[in-house]
Amino acid sequence: MVAGGVEKLLASALGNPFPQVREILGGYAGLELPKREAALRSALQLLETSSQPARRSARPAARIAPPTAAPGERLPPDAEVSCLDTGPGGARKLASLGLHTLRDVLHAYPHRHEDRRALPDLAEVEEGQKVTVEGRVVAKSRRSPRPGMLVIDVTLETPSGGRVKATWFNQPWVERQLREGARLVLTGRVKRFGRSVQLGVEHLETVDGAQDSLSTGRIVGVYDSKEGISQEFLRRAAFRALQAVPLDDYLPAHWRQKYGLTDLGDALWGIHFPEDEAQLSRAHARLRFDEYLFLELRMLLQGEDAVLQGKRFEARGDDIERFEGALPFRMTNAQRRVLLEITDDMRSERQMARLVQGDVGSGKTAVAACALYLAVRDGYQGALMAPTEILARQHYSNLVGYLGQLDVRVGLLIGAMGARQKLEMQTRIAQGEVDVVVGTQALIQENVQFDNLGLAVIDEEHRFGVQQRRKLLAGRPDVLVMSATPIPRSLALTAYGDLELSIIDEMPPGRTPIETKLIQDTHRTQAYGFVMRQIREGRQAFVVTALIEENENLELLAATQLADDLKTILPEARIDLLHGRMSAAEKDHVMERFRAREFDLLVSTTVIEVGVDVPNATVMVIENAERFGLAQLHQLRGRVGRGSAQSYCVLIAGEHSKKTRQRLGIIEGSTDGFVIAEADLKLRGPGEIRGTRQSGIPDLRLADLANDTAIIEQARELAKHILAHDPRLEHPRLQYLRAELQSRSHSVAFREVI
Ligand code: ADP
Ligand code: MG
Repeated sequence: MVAGGVEKLLASALGNPFPQVREILGGYAGLELPKREAALRSALQLLETSSQPARRSARPAARIAPPTAAPGERLPPDAEVSCLDTGPGGARKLASLGLHTLRDVLHAYPHRHEDRRALPDLAEVEEGQKVTVEGRVVAKSRRSPRPGMLVIDVTLETPSGGRVKATWFNQPWVERQLREGARLVLTGRVKRFGRSVQLGVEHLETVDGAQDSLSTGRIVGVYDSKEGISQEFLRRAAFRALQAVPLDDYLPAHWRQKYGLTDLGDALWGIHFPEDEAQLSRAHARLRFDEYLFLELRMLLQGEDAVLQGKRFEARGDDIERFEGALPFRMTNAQRRVLLEITDDMRSERQMARLVQGDVGSGKTAVAACALYLAVRDGYQGALMAPTEILARQHYSNLVGYLGQLDVRVGLLIGAMGARQKLEMQTRIAQGEVDVVVGTQALIQENVQFDNLGLAVIDEEHRFGVQQRRKLLAGRPDVLVMSATPIPRSLALTAYGDLELSIIDEMPPGRTPIETKLIQDTHRTQAYGFVMRQIREGRQAFVVTALIEENENLELLAATQLADDLKTILPEARIDLLHGRMSAAEKDHVMERFRAREFDLLVSTTVIEVGVDVPNATVMVIENAERFGLAQLHQLRGRVGRGSAQSYCVLIAGEHSKKTRQRLGIIEGSTDGFVIAEADLKLRGPGEIRGTRQSGIPDLRLADLANDTAIIEQARELAKHILAHDPRLEHPRLQYLRAELQSRSHSVAFREVI
């Protein structure tokens, strides 16, 4: 039954040099017509917008085009990107990436670099090695080995005369880029068949003559982008910005000298267009130092202001006892310790701003519930904010469980509620008829008037300035942030300098640890056989597909494809799909249905990362596990093991290096988020570039926290020195530094401080 289907899947995967590509698009033919159409249309759109001059702006003519800079003209860093000649629609594209000023463009560093100076010697490349090759298309063929399947083979001739074969499966839209004679730069993994080299392409760029020097024959930066915005375009924009902006250094020369830092011009040119490795590493060192310097300056400046008046609670001991007495379990020592830290804060005049970190299931919510109870007992209202509606509902039912029996009135306020219901809840909140309100961030954004808000608990929120939020929250309640993202303490202290930190580093007793197994993708048969057995026992399973770099469309296609494959090989299972292109409401709906056991297996892109509880789910399968960061894998794994049954996590790895194996071994060997985070930091090589998305911390784009302790200390030392002599940065010599600091501060509240 099942086995036959799996074998089929395996056979085709094995007979195929590019399993990832096949997974993404191989089942395109199997998609229902409308889905096929949609997939194609979005893919074509992607190509069109990237390869054609963008259409004229649809905006009315009333909007006068700003003058663009004449060649050689200098522009201030705060000039809008529209001043830069980046071609039609250029400014709009940049804006859509959040790049509004020239400074934004200058500081949108590549998230990695590719060495395109010399091609690797094709005779020496190893199986599985990731390489970049450049060359001309000398042969192209298309074939259809079975109905509905399209294979495009391309032979690329490199300048030194070597040949590489690259193959695309079911991606008709790439064909236009692959015409004979086209110059391509391909990055991907090597497959060797004797002497011949094939490439599983992960990144494709066409190079036209004009931008030659920016995209080929040098070390080239690869930028965060999105559909319709090509790497070449971004390189050109960076190049123009570098030319236009006078790169006045905000660090006076003697400080640069003291800390061995290169000047700003060298650094910015070097991060975007390095002449060689040496310049790239100088650039890193300097720009990274700057990131920490501004972070430290900001923290020190805020420190002055940090003693905000908050609420002063009694947080009485007998109330704590009453709360604990009503719990069906005993708090762990870690929970108790953290609760003490919280109650100390609550009792003081200062506004609490505390981050509680702990793995999923470590009992953060229970502790927060106690804090909310204490606030209510002191006559205040409490609020709990969740990142999504479904999580808000989940928290709501948990809080009702904890607090309902203690005569606390808990209310829910989410967008999905009808207008009348909402209004009614808002009225009750305003009149103090509800003690604790659970909702999404809309709670504070929409006009919700609390009668007397004393404590705000924010779940899983590490994306934006808590400092800002702290001030904006009407009535200045104490603030508690809960996060399950495991971050080592040193890092947390740097990244969340404005928050006190509490860590719940102990799991409640009686949990059966999740069993984790790393397998090679050649053994997927067994993996899915196992999944099916669990489903037959009445359990549910998650299957998560790889994140595909720089391309949301492909990610969606990959998930769709995988769901279809699984429907074929697990015909008994009820399978559904969740992906990032769905609206929040659609996602919530799918999750609700999964929770209600309306289907057995949920195929998903990484959007399920944020913590929805499905206690009946016991298996998490992660495809292409080698493409995920460890923190992310750990988060994903945390989706299972939430009930009492033994749970499992299966990491399916495609081709990968030894180092990757080692990395994945960490996950296999531990379920402790902090152990994993530390090990991960240690394993990363120095200089490995981590993008913002990875660190999750705004303002630290280049941070390599495992190795940056010394730099952090130097930056802190300099920051202290600067402020000791000039607390408001008023000296004319510091005008650039001050300006830079102001413009790097996202928080409005903070800008007012200096
Ligand atoms: P988190 O918010 O950290 O994910 P929760 O507070 O939601 O964790 O707790 C996860 C589950 O464990 C809940 O079902 C909760 O009731 C239970 N729990 C919390 N603390 C304890 C404890 N000390 N002993 C036993 N079970 C606990
Ligand atoms: Mg939780």
